[in-house]
Amino acid sequence: MNKPNLKPDYFSFSLSKIKFNQPKKEYFTIHSFFTNDKKVPQAVFSESAGDLSLAIDAQILYCHLGTQKKYEITTLQSVFATLVTRPNVNFNINLDQFISKKLTLLIVIEQFLICFFRYRHTPLNYKQKPDLSKFFHICIQAKINEKTFKELLTSVSQKIAAVNLASDWQDSAPNKLTSESFAKEIEARWSKNSKIKFKILDRAQIEKEKMNLLLAVNAGSQFEPRLVIGEYLPKSKQPVDLVLIGKGIMFDTGGYSLKPSSYQLNMKFDMSGAASVLAAFEAIVRAEIMINVVVLTPLTDNLIGTKATLVESVIVAKDGQSVEITNTDAEGRLVLADTIVYAREHYKPREIIELSTLTGSISVSLGRETSGAFSNKPQHFAKFVKVAEKSLEPIWFLPVNAANFSRMTDSRVADLLNASASYQASSSNAAAFLFSFAKNTPFLHIDIGGTAHTKNARGQGILIQTIFNYSQQLPISKNQKN
Ligand SMILES: [Zn+2]
Repeated sequence: MNKPNLKPDYFSFSLSKIKFNQPKKEYFTIHSFFTNDKKVPQAVFSESAGDLSLAIDAQILYCHLGTQKKYEITTLQSVFATLVTRPNVNFNINLDQFISKKLTLLIVIEQFLICFFRYRHTPLNYKQKPDLSKFFHICIQAKINEKTFKELLTSVSQKIAAVNLASDWQDSAPNKLTSESFAKEIEARWSKNSKIKFKILDRAQIEKEKMNLLLAVNAGSQFEPRLVIGEYLPKSKQPVDLVLIGKGIMFDTGGYSLKPSSYQLNMKFDMSGAASVLAAFEAIVRAEIMINVVVLTPLTDNLIGTKATLVESVIVAKDGQSVEITNTDAEGRLVLADTIVYAREHYKPREIIELSTLTGSISVSLGRETSGAFSNKPQHFAKFVKVAEKSLEPIWFLPVNAANFSRMTDSRVADLLNASASYQASSSNAAAFLFSFAKNTPFLHIDIGGTAHTKNARGQGILIQTIFNYSQQLPISKNQKN
């Protein structure tokens, strides 16, 4: 088997490589300017934000920010993405020049570091001759004390290491990364980390747990299902603050409700929820954030074959509810339902946040920019929404009402059905199905069907930054402290 090229040791980037407030004379200097800046030589003018113009004799790299009126955080993102990848010369960059009324120095520094770690990462590929981007050195200058800078540097590097890790998992070919090999990789990573306690359930153990919905989805596969469970409980004998669950369908053909060929493209990304929560969990552990957190990911693919589950089968879920399978392509909610029940029974968490590429229709509603959120207790997650917005990974609440529940219980032979015959509100119907298993536990389901990967088929490790930032803000009440 070809090993993927350029799979780095994500979390081990040497931070000493980034120089702070030690500009070098021989390096280029970045000079940013707005449209119509009279002081900028005519020759270096360029049309759009993010364009670099090189004025060689003065060793200055001019960087166009567009018009002052339209200058905002997204401008910074595109400008910095260009700056950390394109120049191919060493340069000093004074970040004070990028601040504005809205963009404080801390925001500017954080954005620069996010871009630095994200875009200097070469995405996974299996090419014989991978394209290597040249490494050039950067000296950062800013009017901020070194301690604050170093803290920001450490936390951003951990966060973005997780994003890079997750996106490489997402980009992995489905014949290279299977439920079994993915679980093995997690085992290899986590067994080196004494702070993580983990279990990986195989088929026999999943049978013992009566997770029949997960088994039903796996029935047509040559690979066994796995349930990956990681625990990080730094506040001993305290309740679990947060359970993270991610959908891990390694490849989704649709099963007997087979997807047409063109819809099979990008189905390797159906494990994106799992990739994001596993990586986010690892970042939380490495940053030693003081919360009790557990991550759970059911892993399997969804295939056809003589043993694959038939439409109209009735399966009894882990909690005893019977489910009529009306569409084998609505498999994500099945593996998640049993996992949610497992989480509730084993951990009694304060809240569950679950990420899944659950429905295609979510991208019709919200596009590629916004993930869809659904909760049985939306107020409980108000803070999460704010953090997501600040982290530039917006989520938007959609309703789940009685009509959605009645569609999902409209089966003659079982308590629930897994897919409504009606295509109306299918993202909300799917959420209603999950709510039936979450019961009263505060539960946030985020449908990342539109946001998990980019238009040009690259994983984005979506919502990892949000989960990381949110976990830093979870309140630690007095009686919770060690
Ligand atoms: Zn499916």
